[in-house]
Amino acid sequence: MSERDLELAVKALRDASYVLALTGAGISTESGIPAFRGSQGLWERYDPEEYAHISSFLRNPKKVWGMLKELYGIMKEAQPNPAHEALALLEEHGLLKGVITQNVDGLHQRAGSKRVIEFHGSGETLICLSCGRVFKTDEVSLEDLPPTCPCGGLLKPQIVFFGEPIPPQVLDEAFQEADKCDLMLVVGTSAQVYPAAQLPYKVVERGGKIVEVNLEETPLTRELSTIFLKGSASQILPRLVKRVLTSL
Ligand code: NAD
Repeated sequence: MSERDLELAVKALRDASYVLALTGAGISTESGIPAFRGSQGLWERYDPEEYAHISSFLRNPKKVWGMLKELYGIMKEAQPNPAHEALALLEEHGLLKGVITQNVDGLHQRAGSKRVIEFHGSGETLICLSCGRVFKTDEVSLEDLPPTCPCGGLLKPQIVFFGEPIPPQVLDEAFQEADKCDLMLVVGTSAQVYPAAQLPYKVVERGGKIVEVNLEETPLTRELSTIFLKGSASQILPRLVKRVLTSL
């Protein structure tokens, strides 16, 4: 990332009136939670295409719950990193209207972000596929897999698996927000999962700008991004936010 690009991003943020952040798994890798793409660890052993698909979950819940149990163990230990904290600080100063996240790890909220749209749901709750009762993940034993409801039904995390629709009210809210947005900070997403990846296009259609932060180029970088800040989110976002706040 060049100094000039950082300065351009500071100016764009200062000039914008409705800033949103769209975040993906890359913002949480430095908290120890591996992203699907370009990562090692968990997803080398569990192919996300298979394990994160609703048809696999329904076909073999015990197998998919084995992966989920490991993922929950990792998420439980994870702490927000300086990138999550920088976004919370920007919101606290009234310069960020909210975060739309594809993550299910709850780290934005734990860093202090108040307005978070969880586009792909949350790892914090489980739902019974038979009676619809909702449980806190923490309060359910994962000793015997898959976990079940007292009614005997299968429990499923309230996260959106591949092959499942986004809950309509979440979809509406996110797209209504994108309609108001004149600058979207797109952080740590490969922009390959739809419809989340459609949101930055919506912003640009209406004349808004995209400031993208990623370790590597994505399909958005050349096609859409106004400014591309190449590098780690936990290093770039605190610098960017500090400069915006000191330049007010
Ligand atoms: P992805 O795995 O497809 O892509 C991650 C992106 O982040 C890549 O472009 C990578 O270059 C970038 N990246 C990695 N580390 C980075 C860093 N330190 N700084 C900046 N950029 C970094 O993630 P996605 O686009 O969010 O899509 C995958 C889906 O997987 C999402 O729907 C999400 O729900 C789910 N997921 C969530 C979590 C989580 O909750 N933490 C973890 C894994 C996957």
